[in-house]
Amino acid sequence: MARIDLEHIRHSYLRRPMSDVDYALKEVHHHWEDGGAYALLGPSGCGKTTLLNIISGLLHPSEGRILFDGKDVTDLETRDRNIAQVFQFPVIYDTMTVYDNLAFPLRNRGVAEERVDRKVRETLEMIDLADWSDRKARGLTADQKQKISLGRGLVRSDVNAILFDEPLTVIDPHMKWVLRSQLKQLHRRFGYTMVYVTHDQTEALTFADTVVVMYEGEIVQIGTPADLFERPRHTFVGYFIGSPGMNVMPIEVEGLNAQLGKQTIVLPGAAASTVRTAELGIRPEFVRIGETGMPTKITKVEDIGRQKIVHLSLEGHDLAAVLPESAEIPAEPHVTFDPAGINVYAESWRVELEDR
Ligand code: ADP
Ligand code: MG
Repeated sequence: MARIDLEHIRHSYLRRPMSDVDYALKEVHHHWEDGGAYALLGPSGCGKTTLLNIISGLLHPSEGRILFDGKDVTDLETRDRNIAQVFQFPVIYDTMTVYDNLAFPLRNRGVAEERVDRKVRETLEMIDLADWSDRKARGLTADQKQKISLGRGLVRSDVNAILFDEPLTVIDPHMKWVLRSQLKQLHRRFGYTMVYVTHDQTEALTFADTVVVMYEGEIVQIGTPADLFERPRHTFVGYFIGSPGMNVMPIEVEGLNAQLGKQTIVLPGAAASTVRTAELGIRPEFVRIGETGMPTKITKVEDIGRQKIVHLSLEGHDLAAVLPESAEIPAEPHVTFDPAGINVYAESWRVELEDR
């Protein structure tokens, strides 16, 4: 296992990139701790696969360096980097048996047959394909093939890191949960450095201790699930994480006051005096509805079990509030924001507020 440093990585698929928009990765400067379990989360097209392929060596970055335990590997081939990678689309040998597919990465490295057998059988159990070991991979279902592909990534124990690129997309939800738990267990047992790519927040938040959120070729936040929820660094993180996502409204800031249309909201702290035109972010869980506060109109109420999502209109902006199912909504509803949930953004990035 290794610590992996990405130093000022930029990548463009164009031969002559002219400006930032030509870069699939604009600037990634980040390290993965030895033995860390990370989720790399972001929407389709934000650069996740590009970043993973740069780590494994399938792609040479246009700019920047990659270090494994301090050693520059930027110019090393994939096979010399000792990385296991599980691809989004299963890479397996159709004409080989399930067993031989898993044995392949080990035999390829001259591992003794006795050890190959032990590792392969162990892995087959893990991916729940022990009964299929003698079957040819051809003719297996898509999710079985994906499991083989996953198994091929897990069968070696001498790797610097294991990279998973959306490895469970075609697997049914229950099996997904089972496999994800096994990956977590493996991580605890062997301390692999793991990077798990997904566009699904639930997957990311349940797999990793640290979630790295990407947006348009940049890492916009690295944090625990709680950090991402409570203090989104970028409005994108606010929208993307949480269901429904964070409410974001335009405000004018003056000292402790934020002007939202005709309403004045007192901020939990003052922003720097340079911050004027800004945005207020508040998660639906921190929006309160009662008899006092800012007058509002309820537009829709959705029942989601023990809670309800109340959609409302405030100064012409659509807002969501999450309330307990039993919460009463007064005839003349008003909203207030719990100060603990108020974040201020300038140009989409979070602004630190001074303590009062
Ligand atoms: P993700 O894995 O997050 O969906 P990718 O890393 O695959 O994103 O893609 C990032 C951006 O780079 C996208 O705009 C995509 O269209 C572009 N891209 C990816 N692969 C190639 C390629 N081989 N050639 C040109 N552009 C590519
Ligand atoms: Mg991808």
